[in-house]
Amino acid sequence: EKYVYDFSEGHRGLKELLGGKGANLAEMTRLGLPVPAGFTITTRACQAYLATGSNPAGLAEEIDTHLAALESTMGRRLGDPADPLLVSVRSGAAFSMPGMMETVLNVGLNDASVVGLAAQSGGNDRFAWDSYRRLIQMFGKTVCEVPGEEFSAALDEAKNNRGATDDLHLDAADLRALVDRYKYIFAKHTGYDFPQDPREQMELAMAAVFRSWNAERAVLYRRQERIPADLGTAVNVVAMVFGNLGADSGTGVAFTRDPASGAQGIYGDYLANAQGEDVVAGIRNTVPLQELATLDPHSYEELLGIMAKLEGHYRDLCDIEFTIERGKLWMLQTRVGKRTAGAAFRIAAQLVNEGMIDRDEALRRVSGAQLAQLMFPRFDLESGPVALTKGIGASPGAAVGKAVFSAARAVELAAAGEQVILVRRETNPEDLSGMIAAQGILTARGGKTSHAAVVARGMGRTCVCGADSLEIAADRFTVAGRTVAEGDVISVDGTTGSVYLGSVPVRPSEVVQYFEGTLTPQETEDPLVEAVHQIVSHADATRQLVVRTNADTADDAARARRFGAEGIGLCRTEHMFLGDRRELVERLILAATPSERADALAALLPLQRADFVDLFRAMDGLPVTVRLIDPPLHEFLPSLEELAVNVAVARERGEDHAEDAELLDAVRRMHEQNPMLGLRGVRLGLVIPGLFAMQVRAITEAAVQLAGEGLDPHPEIMVPLVGAVQELETVRRECEQIVAEVVADSGVQVLIGTMIEVPRAALTAGQIAEAADFFSFGTNDLTQMGWGFSRDDVEGAFFWRYLELGIFGISPFESIDRDGVGRLIRIAAEEGRAVRPDLKLGVCGEHGGDPESVHFFHEVGLDYVSCSPFRVPVARLEAGRAAI
Ligand code: PEP
Ligand code: MG
Repeated sequence: EKYVYDFSEGHRGLKELLGGKGANLAEMTRLGLPVPAGFTITTRACQAYLATGSNPAGLAEEIDTHLAALESTMGRRLGDPADPLLVSVRSGAAFSMPGMMETVLNVGLNDASVVGLAAQSGGNDRFAWDSYRRLIQMFGKTVCEVPGEEFSAALDEAKNNRGATDDLHLDAADLRALVDRYKYIFAKHTGYDFPQDPREQMELAMAAVFRSWNAERAVLYRRQERIPADLGTAVNVVAMVFGNLGADSGTGVAFTRDPASGAQGIYGDYLANAQGEDVVAGIRNTVPLQELATLDPHSYEELLGIMAKLEGHYRDLCDIEFTIERGKLWMLQTRVGKRTAGAAFRIAAQLVNEGMIDRDEALRRVSGAQLAQLMFPRFDLESGPVALTKGIGASPGAAVGKAVFSAARAVELAAAGEQVILVRRETNPEDLSGMIAAQGILTARGGKTSHAAVVARGMGRTCVCGADSLEIAADRFTVAGRTVAEGDVISVDGTTGSVYLGSVPVRPSEVVQYFEGTLTPQETEDPLVEAVHQIVSHADATRQLVVRTNADTADDAARARRFGAEGIGLCRTEHMFLGDRRELVERLILAATPSERADALAALLPLQRADFVDLFRAMDGLPVTVRLIDPPLHEFLPSLEELAVNVAVARERGEDHAEDAELLDAVRRMHEQNPMLGLRGVRLGLVIPGLFAMQVRAITEAAVQLAGEGLDPHPEIMVPLVGAVQELETVRRECEQIVAEVVADSGVQVLIGTMIEVPRAALTAGQIAEAADFFSFGTNDLTQMGWGFSRDDVEGAFFWRYLELGIFGISPFESIDRDGVGRLIRIAAEEGRAVRPDLKLGVCGEHGGDPESVHFFHEVGLDYVSCSPFRVPVARLEAGRAAI
């Protein structure tokens, strides 16, 4: 097996083997760009090293050969005392893991070659000693785990002794003394002297890069980003070029477009007389890249040319690291750059307009998750709020409120009408009430799969977690010398992870205003809105899935329609039985005789009919799926405990309690140990005579009324929780009779179908299809019953542990479990369609708006997804992406 590739041997297609950096260095070399010579040791070598603790057989010989070639190209030998070749040893995995992995520069310097380097650089002693001290510092820190602060402290001390504010003011003698100091620190911590053998330096640095793959922060980062743990990193050995040779040298980073906003034009920073790590470490202030135009016009022009070439080649935003050595430009790295959600849309649209990519490719380059981010309100940062710290943006949104430090206080203050942010070191199930009461949640520990993050996402609460610089006490936290006490207002940004002191103004999302129709792309000058419009329109033109919405009110329906919904996939009628109407439902439940029951139903009928009239009107011309009542009836009765207390108190006082006692009896009668598995859905319809009939009559009468007004209603009646075809047949017979009678010659058509949300229904779909015009997958219940996970309890109770253990990567209530629940859906879709080829198939569980799940539903061949109004645009986009 070949473990080492010269830069001239690789290309960008070998990312997995050579890592991102190695593959792109090779690509730039092939393009004829000025890349320093070098070679890459493959990720496979790293995998072997990590598995066995030593280099695989043959690696050492291959390195010998490539090093010899490098030496011959450069005309210098590694660490030669007279005229040394120096190299950098850089990590580079297939996925970018910013700041996670190690790099050592100036390898090859020692007590002898530092003199040669000075001679080689025209007697620049200062430069040579500066390079040497950098090597000891980086090598000590990354290879031998010497605490970095000790080196920085020694550097600060040297500057103080000089009265210098800047390391550039240290002269050769100062730096030489600093090298001695660094060597002392090195030996003190490691117990041996700084290695003088250049080849040994190189090999130790390579091994350190290999090992850094398993450093704690790298492991955490990978888990966070779901990067597989066994890929390993490549190692790049690159001939050094020096940005610290004087004023005509320097180093910088550049972007071919603005990665923050997506605006066209060159962005970047430049630092004269410095090496790359100075830019990252912020040792001196950089200047905007444009200033290079005056500092070194020749290199600047060349850089612009290279950037244009790279963009044209990669057809995307590139980010670049470069160094200028005495007026000669060198490219040290390039890659397709990371960008914000907004920039992703803008850049994709620009590239289409510039003819660099087609519309399908633009669609591939954005995601529903990014669109969802753009639909949250944002903080208006123009007022320059003070960022206290930054954690992990775990659940998006912009929340402002008073800091509180316990769930109890959160509940208390929220009940008093205050907006609060719950701040905890980490959360656990006992914090749930506080999390519900709070606008936002902030924790010091834990990542995107911590309890706080999982629960917050489930509830749609803004959450920043893992802000590990916070020191949290019982009623305050401190960070960077500032204290925030209970009651102090803070603002947390669940998208970026930033935490601000005080109340930062919140701006509504322009993208939402655009979807709402209050802002047209023509009206606004906002290029982001224009880009979203362009890309979502293409998704609409491409997608095969219809997108409907889950809505129970005319307002929601109208809003969703503006967001692009093409009908209602789920109207939960039980939501219409709450409020004032609860009493009527209570009468229905308590009815002792058929005539009492008939009275109660007769009272409900006109109310229900009016609901449907509004709903059908809002969705005129589009299908509206109305689901017959689903949840257990006891949900409409008062709580057992409360009633029992009332009755006992009244009895004690000798007051009349007959009515309450009767109610109490009913509540007791209806009490269930597992209501989710009890008397709900179709079972209710079969047990309570007339209940479904009333609803079906209301639906059909509403449709007939609107048809009479000249409108075009398309009602679809949906029966919940069916597990056996006999259940559906029984209900269907009753429904058909009523529908036929009400519809008469009005021309209205009513479909009758069922939810598939009980595993048995999925497995007997062929039978059930005989009695159904359509199936709608209720993936909430199908997940609940497929896994046996109570959908209302498990996320807070133990899902965080499951995520931590990697039992699943994401909650199956959030994103469809393809292997298990997904298999039930496949079976049902196939067997249902085999019996009835025109069977309409949709999904109305929460998964209907989840990007990953939308792709699955497309693959399975469903006709539509239905999701909450706010997620309709996301579903449109993802349905388009699924179809290309
Ligand atoms: C479902 O179970 O997926 C569904 C849509 O119904 P509900 O959430 O109302 O149980
Ligand atoms: Mg359900």
